[in-house]
Amino acid sequence: MIPPPTPEPEKMEILRNLAVTHGASGASIIDAGDIPVDPRVRFKCMIPKCYMSGRCGRCPPYGYSTEKTIRILNNYEQAIFFHVRVESAIIAAKSLSNSITSGQADEAGNLFSLGGHCMLVYSLVRMIRKKAMKIGFCRTEGFSASNCKDILCFKKKTCRELNGSGECRNPEMSVPSMESAGIDAFRLAAKIGWEIFPIGAQCEPESVKRGMLMGLVLVG
Ligand code: SF4
Repeated sequence: MIPPPTPEPEKMEILRNLAVTHGASGASIIDAGDIPVDPRVRFKCMIPKCYMSGRCGRCPPYGYSTEKTIRILNNYEQAIFFHVRVESAIIAAKSLSNSITSGQADEAGNLFSLGGHCMLVYSLVRMIRKKAMKIGFCRTEGFSASNCKDILCFKKKTCRELNGSGECRNPEMSVPSMESAGIDAFRLAAKIGWEIFPIGAQCEPESVKRGMLMGLVLVG
């Protein structure tokens, strides 16, 4: 097998810079070989079952298996890994977990605020992929945060890929989340040295310094 070409450092810097100038709170150029894939990350979406499991074409049990993710990663040399910070008052707000699972906006507006941050991650992934193709890379693969049903199809009852009526409504924007594909984004962030705090449904905003959503674009 012919090894994939190594992307030029200047082009990678253009992509890294694009992320930070358009809203990422930080971005790094990383080796694709450093991206950890662990089947337990994907299983976490199914056991216990996440409210979105089985309802979105990009989420487990659909989407990329860990084997497929590994095959994809093997075809790339480098990637842009970025983060978007979210204040803990928003991402660890008491009402948020219920609002997310019920789809009902909370009075404080945290659901829509978090949705806006997630939308930024999807937009940055799209933007970086488009730019990569413009500056001479011939293929890209993107991973986002959260599920695309809540972010891109919030107003739709069902995912069109799953309801039998057609293909994805947002083929240009919709990408799997890192966790749905088995990528251990937390381990990767810690490896790079980013200060990251896991946030669960029971977290108090005061106990979390800040939240972070992450995105990943492989280029080659
Ligand atoms: S963007 Fe919408 S139609 Fe496409 S996979 Fe996601 S939920 Fe389904």
